[in-house]
Amino acid sequence: MYDYVIVGAGSAGCVLANRLTANPNTKVLLLEAGGRDWNPFIHMPAGLSRLVNHKAINWNYQTAPQSQLNNRCLYWPRGKVLGGSSSINAMCYIRGQAQDYDRWQELGNPGWGYRDVLPYFLKSEDNGRGADNYHAVGGPLSVSDLRHTNKLSHAFIKAGRQLGFPENPDFNAARQEGFGFYQVTQREGRRCSAATGFLDPVKGRDNLTVLLRAQALALLWDGQRIRGIRYHHNGRDVEVEAGEVLLSGGAINSPQLLMLSGIGPGQHLHEHAIDVHLDLPGVGANLQDHLDICILQKSSKPVTYDQPNEIAIGLNYWLTHAGVGSSNVAEAGAFIASELATDGRPDIQLHFVPAQLDDHGRNRLPGYGYTIHACYLRPHSRGEIRLQSTDPRQPPHIDPRYLDDQQDIDAMLAAARIAREVMATPAFSDFRGPELLPGNECRNDEQLLEFIRRKAETIYHPVGTCKMGSDDMAVVDHQLKVHGLEGVRVVDASIMPELVSGNTNAPTIMFAEKVADHLINNSAIHHADAA
Ligand SMILES: Cc1cc2nc3c(=O)[nH]c(=O)nc-3n(C[C@H](O)[C@H](O)[C@H](O)COP(=O)(O)OP(=O)(O)OC[C@H]3O[C@@H](n4cnc5c(N)ncnc54)[C@H](O)[C@@H]3O)c2cc1C
Repeated sequence: MYDYVIVGAGSAGCVLANRLTANPNTKVLLLEAGGRDWNPFIHMPAGLSRLVNHKAINWNYQTAPQSQLNNRCLYWPRGKVLGGSSSINAMCYIRGQAQDYDRWQELGNPGWGYRDVLPYFLKSEDNGRGADNYHAVGGPLSVSDLRHTNKLSHAFIKAGRQLGFPENPDFNAARQEGFGFYQVTQREGRRCSAATGFLDPVKGRDNLTVLLRAQALALLWDGQRIRGIRYHHNGRDVEVEAGEVLLSGGAINSPQLLMLSGIGPGQHLHEHAIDVHLDLPGVGANLQDHLDICILQKSSKPVTYDQPNEIAIGLNYWLTHAGVGSSNVAEAGAFIASELATDGRPDIQLHFVPAQLDDHGRNRLPGYGYTIHACYLRPHSRGEIRLQSTDPRQPPHIDPRYLDDQQDIDAMLAAARIAREVMATPAFSDFRGPELLPGNECRNDEQLLEFIRRKAETIYHPVGTCKMGSDDMAVVDHQLKVHGLEGVRVVDASIMPELVSGNTNAPTIMFAEKVADHLINNSAIHHADAA
């Protein structure tokens, strides 16, 4: 019997395990479907290109055919290893915009406004620049400046200035807009995943049991209460009792597990002959993601990361934890308000990569080049996760319905146009070769849209499939408890009612900090305005 069973040792699960076991009287079991994070490419930041479709540490999901993207099935990597997706991600540390959280509060989630959540971002953080109004030191999550940056990333920031955008040294302070280097989740040049930051320091605690290659199969019922979980480990199915089960399997797996346990849209569960314990129509609905388009320019000089001397880089890295090996590759970025952003808030994010990036880096191109990723930050299209089998080992049906909403099409066009303008600035004159993607023959919006339909991919931020709220489609309340049920919460990226305007790792870590605090202090979720 455990006080808590946590499903998934990813960005959220590792935080929960750390915080909840600080009290030696609280017994916690952490189940992780993947294995140990021993792979050295996890820890050397530039090794991320080796992880994106690694068979053993990645769920390697595929979406359903996307009707607005020429019926392509898009590749969706997700971490299946200690640290979850934080062990394979690009390490960009971004919180989003204050208005994102204020909007969640307006949607009926007291205690989730920006003033309420900022303390929990700070609680996690150990920022290499020191503490100020927006940053803190001493937390388990190390946030640093990059130790190595490419000259093309500097050219990218100069390009922003030439277009009249401000330079922004800190996207997580008062103003998000502008061009700058990302701060990264690294400690002394090594990746700081949720596992290395939160789990490693506490794994010796007697009250914490971590089971690897242990996949949760279904929640166990006791009337209207969840009493524990069934999981598969070492070739057999095991049942364990818990005071509370915390689902942190991520935006794809958490709704899948709920549905397999009889919690979800009744009609859909009937179709799979699953007993409906709780008809919750929102489970798996409200899927949102950042769709991304890459503009790729050939470089006239061999200054990019395309043809690395891997042995020299690796040796230098293991000796110094610096140099190219310490780069997260997506070194610089920008937040821009397009002409469609009537409220003036940035609605476009750029990630600059001083290498040729096509098909998640799986298509290695000859020669040298550089890439701007461009995405629309607040998409209107909504998709869903559905079961395609009652076997928990089979992937669910993933349908993000990208570009279902015309506003998303218009915004993606604006994003692609801005990225091309950046590429065309004098800042890149010394390096500019021909445009490879979309290529000079792409001259008008019709052609640009055809290019987007042919080439757009995910930038890895699926969220929203167990959304927090109080309306009919909400799955969890503002304390992240599943509506209508005792004994189970969802604590991961799936609880976002609306996608944040930025990357999703730091917000997910923040949710876990906030809920852990609530569980430890047995308090109501704190609401700053009421304090
Ligand atoms: C390639 C890539 C690049 C990214 N780049 C960035 C970036 O630069 N910056 C950023 O902020 N965000 C980035 N993200 C997104 C960010 O990492 C995720 O949003 C975040 O990690 C999600 O956290 P989570 O806790 O919801 O899920 P995850 O971290 O994915 O954790 C879920 C964990 O649960 C485990 N699990 C699932 N089902 C079960 C089960 N049934 N039983 C047991 N265990 C289970 C999984 O194996 C996994 O370890 C990136 C993501 C990817 C994939």
